[in-house]
Amino acid sequence: MNKDELISQYLQVKDTVPTDVQLVAVSKNHSSEAINYLYEAGQKVFGENKVQELIEKYEVLPKDIEWHLIGHLQTNKVKYIAPFVHTIQSVDSEKVLKEINKDAAKNDRTIEILLQVKIAAEDSKFGFTVADAQAVFQKYLANDFPHVKINGLMGMATFTEDEDQIKNEFSILKNLFDEFKAESKIEILSMGMSGDYKTAISSGANSVRIGSSIFGERK
Ligand SMILES: *Cc1c(COP(=O)(O)O)cnc(C)c1O
Repeated sequence: MNKDELISQYLQVKDTVPTDVQLVAVSKNHSSEAINYLYEAGQKVFGENKVQELIEKYEVLPKDIEWHLIGHLQTNKVKYIAPFVHTIQSVDSEKVLKEINKDAAKNDRTIEILLQVKIAAEDSKFGFTVADAQAVFQKYLANDFPHVKINGLMGMATFTEDEDQIKNEFSILKNLFDEFKAESKIEILSMGMSGDYKTAISSGANSVRIGSSIFGERK
């Protein structure tokens, strides 16, 4: 895709996302050059799923980009992104949460995170069970992770054509979000990708992670 095509695809997608819903442009496997075109067109929030790729792009791109990590994070890699990452959406264990808290403290900052909850029937996806997410959230409320701000929840629905199943899965996360929101000031419900973001938004998502609809298929 050339620059004009990319920007036109981006604007088309952006048009379908209500202004009160955050659009995270998922740039994994796409070049820094392509990201920069979108940056110049006004997009400031980008999502990557690999630490190494995130760091390489962070280093060469404008520093006011808000970087979100959306892929599984290994404990031993937290330190590489702790100085600059804006939000870690894919926090899927208490172990990694503790490490983020520790490295945030070392960097003298508070890192925003989302708890990733497993809502899909497929068993390949990472994430807390609803019960484990509730338990870790109670520890958070008891101030167990003072250098972390849990700002919401992230989830992925099953990759299926079955709309009802997708809606059911999203509603599990929406209910949990409402439950947490009644206890603490959390803001972000991140669900929906290229294939299902419209369903996600009608199910209550206020943040969507869109890759291929903007950038084209990944190589
Ligand atoms: C790749 C990815 C996306 C974007 O997927 P598309 O189908 O390309 O929009 C969203 N969320 C996560 C966690 C991803 O890994």
